[in-house]
Amino acid sequence: MDIFYSSTRNGDDKLTASQAILKGLADDGGLFVPDHIPALDVTLDELKDMSYQETAYAVMKQFFTDFTEEELKDCINKAYDDKFDTKEIAPLVEADGAYFLELFHGSTIAFKDMALSILPHLLITSARKNNVKNDIVILTATSGDTGKAALAGFSNVKGTKIIVFYPKNGVSPIQEKQMVTQKGDNTFVVGINGNFDEAQTGVKKMFADKELKAELDAKGYQFSSANSINIGRLVPQVVYYVYAYAKLYANGVIAKDEKINVVVPTGNFGNILAAFFAKNMGVPIAKLVCASNENKVLYDFFSTGTYDKNREFVLTSSPSMDILISSNLERLIYKISGRDAKVNAKLMKDLRETGKYEITPDMRRQLDDFYGNYTTEAETSEVIRDLYDSTGYVIDTHTAVAAGVYKKYKADTKDTETKTVIASTASPFKFTRSVMDAIDKEKYHSMTDFELVDELSKIANVKVPNAIEEIRNAKVLHDTVCDVDKMPDTVRSFLK
Ligand SMILES: *Cc1c(COP(=O)(O)O)cnc(C)c1O
Repeated sequence: MDIFYSSTRNGDDKLTASQAILKGLADDGGLFVPDHIPALDVTLDELKDMSYQETAYAVMKQFFTDFTEEELKDCINKAYDDKFDTKEIAPLVEADGAYFLELFHGSTIAFKDMALSILPHLLITSARKNNVKNDIVILTATSGDTGKAALAGFSNVKGTKIIVFYPKNGVSPIQEKQMVTQKGDNTFVVGINGNFDEAQTGVKKMFADKELKAELDAKGYQFSSANSINIGRLVPQVVYYVYAYAKLYANGVIAKDEKINVVVPTGNFGNILAAFFAKNMGVPIAKLVCASNENKVLYDFFSTGTYDKNREFVLTSSPSMDILISSNLERLIYKISGRDAKVNAKLMKDLRETGKYEITPDMRRQLDDFYGNYTTEAETSEVIRDLYDSTGYVIDTHTAVAAGVYKKYKADTKDTETKTVIASTASPFKFTRSVMDAIDKEKYHSMTDFELVDELSKIANVKVPNAIEEIRNAKVLHDTVCDVDKMPDTVRSFLK
């Protein structure tokens, strides 16, 4: 059955998957949602023998119904290849009674790679299907991590160029080095004399600039974004939950149709929403456990029914979860409103104007699938140290937030029997300093970043990932720096 996509703020439009991927965000500011969540049409016994790529096809064909089999398989095979350092793509590791789903084996050793390695291919295929003749130019402002994952995803993808702006003095030295050493003729990295907000505002202005648009169109280019709310990023994330369930079954950990819990370290609510989609496709998931760090807007939302971003922003050791507006939550709000775009649009207006909104008791009752809690900074360190001391397995700070919440969930609910998958969203090598400080601050605090990398490799008995090895000695390939008001001219100079 064909699936069409409409905005969460306007139930009327009807886009094909490829049109929704190309557009990214709806004109009314809403997010695209499928008209229903399709069931899987393969059995568990078929899934249990499938590779990651085969599972990806089984899941994605149900959502992207206007792609041909050949188109979709081509995207999948180009995305999940030897950019990943393991054939399994997303391996499961058991430690301390839980199953860690390692989503960090791609180019930038964090889970954004799972979606950003396929999005460029979905985007370019969508452009072709809709007779877009222009090359696609991705414009992004980054405060560090997403920029690198997007660069790695789009690097050398034919028919695309990617231009990333970052605050020249506002990212860590390692993050900057990762970006300015990016290979690929179609990649451009620019430091700006300004902060992240100015970079973001500058990019938004270029998207809205009609003159620039016409000028680029004449040269055969058009802008697009790799934003995390693109349906082309959400759907590929459903895959690994299906895959993890099938692998637990294949390995005899669970019986057929036995329910599991899933714990997800959450920021923008994209990764956990993908798990919710997997559940709605038929994967037997009991609880979706939403783990926050000290920016615990979501925990408060699940416990009170009020979403309130009016609070102090905390800088934590899990920076990718330091978020006060979880954009992808809008898709869940839309669903529990009974797919009422008016109700959802009103709540989102409240959020824009007052920084908060409150859902009805009836909507709250539909959140029974979710359990929310949070882990403090001190608890996060303790979780990393305890797990290392008892098992030798080393996890990163984001994953530790999830493991900490899983402990609280067990204590709170007495549900200690249900087999549980914890989404492991970054390699400990990505956040080496925080991880090593957690294990033994006394011993490690005076070492340099790369000394810590080697030490971590030794104590965890894990090879230093390529992503880290590469930047040790890599050549700087991008050295453009510009003022904020010169961003459009810089773009013009790249697109001659
Ligand atoms: C982005 C990110 C998260 C949060 O994922 P969301 O989909 O935004 O909830 C968690 N951990 C890491 C390492 C990330 O990069």
